[in-house]
Amino acid sequence: MLQQLDQIEQAALEALEKVNDETALEQWRVSHLGRSSPLMKTFDQLGSLDKELRPAVGKRANEIKRALESNLAEKSQLLQQAAVLRSLESERLDVSLPGRPVAHGRLHPVTQNLRQIFQIFAEMGFQVYRSRDVETDEFNFQLLNFPPHHPAREMQDSFYIAGEYAEDNPLLLRTHTSPGQIHAMREYAASNPDNPPPVRIILPGMCYRYEQVTARSEIQFNQVEGLAVGKHITLGDLKGTLTDFARRLFGKHVLSRFRASHFPFTEPSAEMDIECFVCGGKGCAVCKRTGWLEILGCGMVHPVVLSNGGYDPAKYTGFAFGMGPERIAMLRYKIEDIRYFWANDMRFLEQF
Ligand SMILES: [Zn+2]
Repeated sequence: MLQQLDQIEQAALEALEKVNDETALEQWRVSHLGRSSPLMKTFDQLGSLDKELRPAVGKRANEIKRALESNLAEKSQLLQQAAVLRSLESERLDVSLPGRPVAHGRLHPVTQNLRQIFQIFAEMGFQVYRSRDVETDEFNFQLLNFPPHHPAREMQDSFYIAGEYAEDNPLLLRTHTSPGQIHAMREYAASNPDNPPPVRIILPGMCYRYEQVTARSEIQFNQVEGLAVGKHITLGDLKGTLTDFARRLFGKHVLSRFRASHFPFTEPSAEMDIECFVCGGKGCAVCKRTGWLEILGCGMVHPVVLSNGGYDPAKYTGFAFGMGPERIAMLRYKIEDIRYFWANDMRFLEQF
């Protein structure tokens, strides 16, 4: 009987050697320590044994039971440690792997275009002058020679702002950057009212119009206004400056032309076109078969505007111009819809 117990123990320990996961360990426990295992059956048989044999067999069986239980516990711990090691191994952080690429931001296409325009005018001696987005009717219209009820206001439907103001002078989001002309001239003139210094500035900024949003027009857009005031400034200076600007922006061989136009704050007024760079002037869909692309409006500063700015029109003259950087970017990059600029669609923005 004792020999049989030794065999049971040996068989159990040998089987345990081969166990290498938790499921197999549980099966091992059932077959070697479970109720119907050979060892447990030995306990059942104790009663039928000879009295002299009983204590020795009982003692030995208990020893084996304790030995198997402690071996089981040890094996279980080993298996758990192995599982931890395995998971550490399989989920190891490999610091030598290249990291995920960081998406670099870049400048918005309009900002890129604006900076190029700033640079060209900076080289010609123009400084950037910034003014407010919220204006009074007086600055946005009246001082620029748009009296109340003037029909030219119809071109610039406006966003009005609730607040306290005189009835004929409501607050609005500026419809163009031109009110900055008055602010700038008054600031310059204040430094020496009897003999105001010359002005040579560009005024960039966002403008707002209450318009139907279409592929051609947005309710918000940038403008770059330019203003040069001084003694003996002529239409020739205007043409020379803007022709040079067009050559620097669109290429040194680009042709340009001026067409008569009307703006309340300039006289005479003109629109400037450049030869279509898509078709070379032959006529295409981009230039609507005309061979020319309109890029800006301009003119000699109206005497009323000069005197509203503190400059005596008998002594001073000047020219002004205004362009839409989005429109120019649309021409340069053949963008068909102005709404792309503010739609924040990465597929569009990533192309620049
Ligand atoms: Zn064309």
